[in-house]
Amino acid sequence: MSLVTTPSQYRAASNGLLVSEQVLADSRKSYHWKHRYAIAPYLVAISVTNYSVYTNDVLLSDGTNMPMLNYVYPESESNAKIGTAANVRVLQYFDSLFVAYPFKKEKYGHAQFGWGGGMEHQTMSFVVDYSWGLLAHELAHQWFGDMVTCGSWEDIWLNEGFATYLEGLSRERFPQSNGDWTIWKTSKINSVTSGASGSVKVDNPNSVNRIFNGRLTYNKGGMVVHMLRRKLGDVAFFNGVRNYLNARAFNYATTSQLQQHLEAVSGQNLTEFLADWYEGQGFPTYDVRWDQKDSAVKFKIFQTTSHASVDFFEMPVDIKLWRRKEVILSFDHVVSGQTFEQLVDFKVESVRFDPNLWLAAKNEVTRENLFPTGSVDLDATSVTLFPNPAANAITIVKDNALPAHYDIKDVNGKIVKSGILNDFTNSLDIVDLPVGTYIFALQDDNKISISKFIKAQ
Ligand SMILES: [Zn+2]
Repeated sequence: MSLVTTPSQYRAASNGLLVSEQVLADSRKSYHWKHRYAIAPYLVAISVTNYSVYTNDVLLSDGTNMPMLNYVYPESESNAKIGTAANVRVLQYFDSLFVAYPFKKEKYGHAQFGWGGGMEHQTMSFVVDYSWGLLAHELAHQWFGDMVTCGSWEDIWLNEGFATYLEGLSRERFPQSNGDWTIWKTSKINSVTSGASGSVKVDNPNSVNRIFNGRLTYNKGGMVVHMLRRKLGDVAFFNGVRNYLNARAFNYATTSQLQQHLEAVSGQNLTEFLADWYEGQGFPTYDVRWDQKDSAVKFKIFQTTSHASVDFFEMPVDIKLWRRKEVILSFDHVVSGQTFEQLVDFKVESVRFDPNLWLAAKNEVTRENLFPTGSVDLDATSVTLFPNPAANAITIVKDNALPAHYDIKDVNGKIVKSGILNDFTNSLDIVDLPVGTYIFALQDDNKISISKFIKAQ
């Protein structure tokens, strides 16, 4: 509850509903605001100045007619009216996206203030101006930040990464210019890849600048949400986030609670993904080589990471081929140097990596000869692995007796065993590996051979 007494030329804006506005005996004015939902302390606010006030009507998806109440500087009123009318459509969209607007028994609103940017005070965002992106961002916080509040500063991306991403979604749904969504994603990727280090997880919660770091908390956090959507698929992503919001409504939340809900819906294990993208630093750079021979197109995809905290980012990757036709192929990239082959019925003129901008990454695509003439095919698997399935040991037969590095990775891409094989015929003990599917990768000077095997009981 806020009770504010002001000189009569001013108005007070605050959370919740305006219960009364009274003229006192001394001709000052008294404002009484009341908010009946649970609220985190930092979301309570009062603002007083010579506001103009107007209301936009918002028809929510369940038929509720709710006011969007706007307290604006008189000199900003014409701009404000354009901005808030546009924001009504974003509110209707967000209301249908995950869960309904959380404070529909009261209102949503804006109060203008003099700081840079905005602040997502519950049911009454404070904003410096009425631009599309700012209003969409602060509105998104009503779900991500206000209804569900990050449990610690380490988890601030649950507020800011999601608010950033929902601003992007508002541009995907209502492009503000030609290519708006593409431009938005490009700018976020460019920001993330402008520095080689830094994690989404806040590693120094005593620093306000680190907590609210634009590149890491907002942009990389937003791209992590975007990559989760790609990895899980739209159905599992939107359902998982919906379950997370419902389960943590009017409460605090942690990254591991979000993880539990996304894993439960998708059946995917996100431990490795979050170790790379939330706790780990930096980003991947892809070096994509391709070639075509008749109807066979071959790709060889290398990856380096910008920071030693992550050895490899296991990600689904998309490649677009086109000339007469356009085809987008998707591959699970689990090891650098991995090769993929695909049959196509047209001559490929051009290849583009990650055409829909799903990855916070850099890339380079070159055509090179991957179908050499002569007897040796560089990409043929040059190892024989048996038995498969195997319980105690696997035998690896190489095509030479030179030392070669090998990695065994589990299905999440985590290296579980590695070392050097020196001989033609080598035996590897796998008794200690849990039952499951594994990838065996042998690295020579200029090639990587990959085999899958199953560890049995
Ligand atoms: Zn924010």
